[in-house]
Amino acid sequence: MSGYVPGEQPPLGTKIIKLNSNENPYPPSPKALKVLQEIDGEMLRRYPDPTGKLFRIAASKVLGVPDDWIAVGNGSDDLLNLIVRAVGEAGKPVVCPVPTYVLYRTLAEIQEAEFVEVPYPDDYKLPVDLLIAARGAVTFVASPNSPSGTAISVADLDKLAKELSGLLVIDEAYVDFAENNALELTKKYNNVIVLRTLSKGYSLAGLRLGFAIANPALLAELNKIKDSYNVDALAYAVGAAAIADRDHKTANAEKIKASRAKLAISFRELGFDVLPSQTNFLLVRPPNGDAERIYQTLKVRGILIRYFNQPRLEDKLRISVGTEEQNQILVKTLKEIL
Ligand SMILES: *Cc1c(COP(=O)(O)O)cnc(C)c1O
Repeated sequence: MSGYVPGEQPPLGTKIIKLNSNENPYPPSPKALKVLQEIDGEMLRRYPDPTGKLFRIAASKVLGVPDDWIAVGNGSDDLLNLIVRAVGEAGKPVVCPVPTYVLYRTLAEIQEAEFVEVPYPDDYKLPVDLLIAARGAVTFVASPNSPSGTAISVADLDKLAKELSGLLVIDEAYVDFAENNALELTKKYNNVIVLRTLSKGYSLAGLRLGFAIANPALLAELNKIKDSYNVDALAYAVGAAAIADRDHKTANAEKIKASRAKLAISFRELGFDVLPSQTNFLLVRPPNGDAERIYQTLKVRGILIRYFNQPRLEDKLRISVGTEEQNQILVKTLKEIL
């Protein structure tokens, strides 16, 4: 099998504009950083709480769901891995609309589960009937989707949840930049898991903290196979402060959404096709589909973006929304290259 290849991570301090991993360009909540600075050694001497009760209570207040409807992971990637390990095996297909987050495939291959790809149409509307027909033991839908950035209709997800007998995992990594979310479906259907992360909206990709929302009976099954201490005490403490600081997250998301709109206009002026995005990135097609050359040229000039050498993506680029200053440099550099 070929392993998952993450976006390049140049060492901290490298003078580079990094728009390749959809990290938030703004710093985490000062309240969360204060908690980090004041960590007591006693907290680290002991093992962490296996289920992260204090974090779950903090998240529960923000989400309006009971804390036993929340399970924690070492990033949402950890939860994706747990879910596939729980239900995936030979003869139990893992189903996804594609193109989407490539890790789903890698995780299925590790379990020797059949991986069924259902192509998105060009408008990226969810192919609900084809997904139902694929009869997955688990069906993953990134909502909004990556790398397209497009929104998924909650009505379509509702229909999918209703008709599927297997699990429906709705990966809401980018929900903080979107207009809708599917949290209500966890209450309506007992086969739905919604995944969230602090990596994108909360500017904490380096902390590694994600969480799942689903009914407690379903979460109990996932808890059986997780590492006892899959999340560390620092992540719980910092994460609890971060998720409670909604104003900080919302203010940053608003800035990013405004920049996203401006950036889309600039790209269109340069002759790019731009998909409508409800995330902190844009999928664009440069004039002539000359994506790989532009990716390489930007890299030489110190700007990292994401290029996927894959069907339907080889003529496109995925570009994270940066700070206003970074976006301006990007647009200016692209003008020069074109
Ligand atoms: C970034 C991302 C994740 C991973 O989130 P972590 O919590 O950092 O592991 C999961 N799903 C999608 C679609 C993502 O883009």
